[in-house]
Amino acid sequence: MYTVKEIFKSIQGEGYNIGKESVFVRFTGCNLWNGKKESKNKAICNFCDTDFVGTDGNNGGIYSLESLVDKIEQVWNSSFSLEHRYVILTGGEPLLQVDANLVDYLKCKKYKVALETNGTIQLRADFDWVCVSPKDPENWLLKKGDELKVIYPQNKFNLQSLLTLDFKYFFLQPKYDKLKQLNFNKTIDYCKIHRQWFPSIQIHKTIGVQ
Ligand code: SF4
Repeated sequence: MYTVKEIFKSIQGEGYNIGKESVFVRFTGCNLWNGKKESKNKAICNFCDTDFVGTDGNNGGIYSLESLVDKIEQVWNSSFSLEHRYVILTGGEPLLQVDANLVDYLKCKKYKVALETNGTIQLRADFDWVCVSPKDPENWLLKKGDELKVIYPQNKFNLQSLLTLDFKYFFLQPKYDKLKQLNFNKTIDYCKIHRQWFPSIQIHKTIGVQ
C-alpha cells in the first residue's frame, strides 16, 4: 500500500523539465523532518515549504498498486492528451514508499517516470528521470542522476566539488523563505560567475499554479 498526500496535474515548475505537463504524486512522509512546525528548527532539513503530512490533499489516500495507477490515469486523462504521459513521484521523500512494482507498472501504461528525492535512499527501480536535491552531506547516499538541485544560499556543500559528480545538469534553486527575493538575487549572481550552475526558478510559485 502507498500513503499519498495528493495527486494533481500541473506543469513541472522547476529544473530541466520546466514547463512539462505532468501528474504529480506527492507521497506522505519524509526522513529529514517529521512535518511538525514545532520540530522544524531541529530537523535535519529545516527550510521545507511543502506539506507532506497525512492524506488530506487533493486525491490523497491510501492506495494499492492498482488503485494508485488507476488514479494517476484518471488525473492524466482528465486534461492531457494520451501522448507523452509523464508522472513525477515526489514528497516528502518518495523513496520511503516507491518500489520497482510501481515504476514498472507505470511504464507498462506508457508513462515516463520521474523522481524527486532528497538522495538519502538508494534507487530500487529504473526511473526515466532522477532529480536529487540533497539537504545534508552526512545523509546523502545517491550521488548520481540526471539533475542535481541545491537550495541556495547554503553552507553545507562545496558547490564546486559537487560539479565532479555524475549528473547531467546542475541547478541552484533560491531558498523560498522570507528572504526569497534576496535569495533569488544571490542565486543569479552566483550562476553568473559559475556558469556550470544554472538557476532553477520555481515558476509555478511565481505564476501562481500548484
Ligand atoms: S527533504 Fe524535501 S520534503 Fe523532506 S523536509 Fe526537506 S524539503 Fe521537505
